Amino acid sequence: MHEFSTAVGVVDTVTDVAKKHHAIKINKIELVVGEFTMLNAEQLIFAFEIASEGTLAHGAEVVISEQKGQIECQECKYSGDIEKQSKDVDHFVVDMTNIFECPKCHSSKTKISGGRDIYINNIQVELPDEK
Ligand SMILES: [Zn+2]
Repeated sequence: MHEFSTAVGVVDTVTDVAKKHHAIKINKIELVVGEFTMLNAEQLIFAFEIASEGTLAHGAEVVISEQKGQIECQECKYSGDIEKQSKDVDHFVVDMTNIFECPKCHSSKTKISGGRDIYINNIQVELPDEK
Protein backbone atom coordinates (compact mmCIF):
# COMPACT_ATOMS: atom_id res chain seq x y z
CA MET A 1 0.00 0.00 0.00
CA HIS A 2 1.56 3.16 -1.34
CA GLU A 3 -0.09 5.44 1.22
CA PHE A 4 1.11 3.38 4.13
CA SER A 5 4.81 3.43 3.24
CA THR A 6 4.53 7.15 2.60
CA ALA A 7 2.87 7.67 5.97
CA VAL A 8 5.65 5.72 7.70
CA GLY A 9 8.21 7.97 6.01
CA VAL A 10 6.35 11.07 7.13
CA VAL A 11 6.11 9.82 10.70
CA ASP A 12 9.85 9.01 10.75
CA THR A 13 10.75 12.44 9.46
CA VAL A 14 8.50 14.45 11.73
CA THR A 15 9.40 12.50 14.86
CA ASP A 16 13.10 13.04 14.07
CA VAL A 17 12.53 16.77 13.78
CA ALA A 18 10.44 16.83 16.94
CA LYS A 19 13.12 14.96 18.92
CA LYS A 20 15.81 17.37 17.74
CA HIS A 21 13.75 20.20 19.14
CA HIS A 22 12.95 18.28 22.33
CA ALA A 23 9.28 18.53 21.56
CA ILE A 24 6.87 16.52 23.65
CA LYS A 25 4.17 16.31 21.04
CA ILE A 26 3.49 17.09 17.40
CA ASN A 27 0.37 19.18 16.97
CA LYS A 28 0.13 19.74 13.28
CA ILE A 29 1.77 18.54 10.09
CA GLU A 30 1.33 20.26 6.75
CA LEU A 31 2.00 18.09 3.75
CA VAL A 32 2.21 19.05 0.12
CA VAL A 33 1.30 16.19 -2.16
CA GLY A 34 2.03 16.31 -5.87
CA GLU A 35 -0.79 15.62 -8.28
CA PHE A 36 1.20 12.78 -9.88
CA THR A 37 2.07 10.93 -6.69
CA MET A 38 -1.18 8.97 -6.96
CA LEU A 39 -1.63 9.34 -3.24
CA ASN A 40 -5.14 9.56 -1.91
CA ALA A 41 -5.35 12.21 0.79
CA GLU A 42 -7.98 10.41 2.87
CA GLN A 43 -6.12 7.13 2.74
CA LEU A 44 -2.91 8.91 3.57
CA ILE A 45 -4.42 10.45 6.70
CA PHE A 46 -5.86 7.07 7.69
CA ALA A 47 -2.47 5.39 7.14
CA PHE A 48 -0.81 8.16 9.10
CA GLU A 49 -3.01 7.48 12.11
CA ILE A 50 -1.92 3.86 12.12
CA ALA A 51 1.73 4.60 11.37
CA SER A 52 1.98 7.24 14.09
CA GLU A 53 0.62 4.98 16.81
CA GLY A 54 2.91 5.19 19.83
CA THR A 55 5.00 8.04 18.44
CA LEU A 56 5.18 11.77 19.12
CA ALA A 57 3.19 12.30 15.95
CA HIS A 58 0.15 10.46 17.20
CA GLY A 59 -2.92 12.64 17.29
CA ALA A 60 -1.36 15.35 15.16
CA GLU A 61 -3.59 17.18 12.76
CA VAL A 62 -2.56 16.45 9.19
CA VAL A 63 -3.27 19.11 6.59
CA ILE A 64 -2.74 18.12 2.99
CA SER A 65 -2.53 20.49 0.08
CA GLU A 66 -2.13 19.45 -3.50
CA GLN A 67 0.61 20.63 -5.76
CA LYS A 68 -0.39 20.81 -9.40
CA GLY A 69 1.42 18.61 -11.87
CA GLN A 70 3.87 20.37 -14.17
CA ILE A 71 5.27 19.29 -17.49
CA GLU A 72 8.10 20.35 -19.74
CA CYS A 73 7.88 20.08 -23.49
CA GLN A 74 10.92 18.77 -25.35
CA GLU A 75 9.79 20.36 -28.61
CA CYS A 76 8.85 23.95 -27.81
CA LYS A 77 10.28 24.20 -24.28
CA TYR A 78 6.89 24.93 -22.78
CA SER A 79 6.95 24.50 -19.05
CA GLY A 80 3.94 24.64 -16.81
CA ASP A 81 0.57 23.15 -16.04
CA ILE A 82 -0.83 20.24 -17.93
CA GLU A 83 -3.79 20.80 -20.17
CA LYS A 84 -6.69 19.83 -18.00
CA GLN A 85 -9.20 18.71 -20.58
CA SER A 86 -6.72 17.02 -22.88
CA LYS A 87 -8.49 13.88 -24.01
CA ASP A 88 -10.07 11.56 -21.52
CA VAL A 89 -6.80 10.05 -20.41
CA ASP A 90 -6.83 8.77 -16.91
CA HIS A 91 -3.34 9.73 -15.93
CA PHE A 92 -3.52 7.80 -12.71
CA VAL A 93 -3.64 4.52 -14.56
CA VAL A 94 -1.62 5.06 -17.69
CA ASP A 95 2.14 4.86 -17.82
CA MET A 96 3.61 7.99 -16.30
CA THR A 97 5.94 8.87 -19.16
CA ASN A 98 5.00 10.78 -22.28
CA ILE A 99 1.30 10.77 -21.74
CA PHE A 100 0.68 14.48 -21.46
CA GLU A 101 0.25 16.53 -24.55
CA CYS A 102 1.92 19.91 -24.65
CA PRO A 103 -0.82 22.55 -24.47
CA LYS A 104 1.17 24.84 -26.77
CA CYS A 105 2.45 22.71 -29.65
CA HIS A 106 0.51 19.48 -28.93
CA SER A 107 3.64 17.41 -28.97
CA SER A 108 3.59 14.34 -26.77
CA LYS A 109 7.30 14.61 -26.10
CA THR A 110 6.80 15.94 -22.64
CA LYS A 111 8.44 15.26 -19.33
CA ILE A 112 6.88 15.53 -15.92
CA SER A 113 8.79 18.25 -14.11
CA GLY A 114 6.74 18.77 -10.98
CA GLY A 115 4.03 17.28 -8.82
CA ARG A 116 5.68 13.91 -8.38
CA ASP A 117 6.78 14.47 -4.83
CA ILE A 118 5.41 14.66 -1.38
CA TYR A 119 7.05 16.91 1.14
CA ILE A 120 6.50 18.27 4.59
CA ASN A 121 5.83 21.97 4.43
CA ASN A 122 5.48 22.75 8.09
CA ILE A 123 5.39 21.05 11.47
CA GLN A 124 3.99 22.50 14.66
CA VAL A 125 5.27 20.95 17.83
CA GLU A 126 4.60 21.38 21.49
CA LEU A 127 7.63 22.14 23.60
CA PRO A 128 7.93 21.29 27.25
CA ASP A 129 7.25 24.09 29.71
CA GLU A 130 10.44 25.77 30.71
CA LYS A 131 10.86 25.88 34.41
ZN1 LIG B 1 5.36 22.01 -26.86
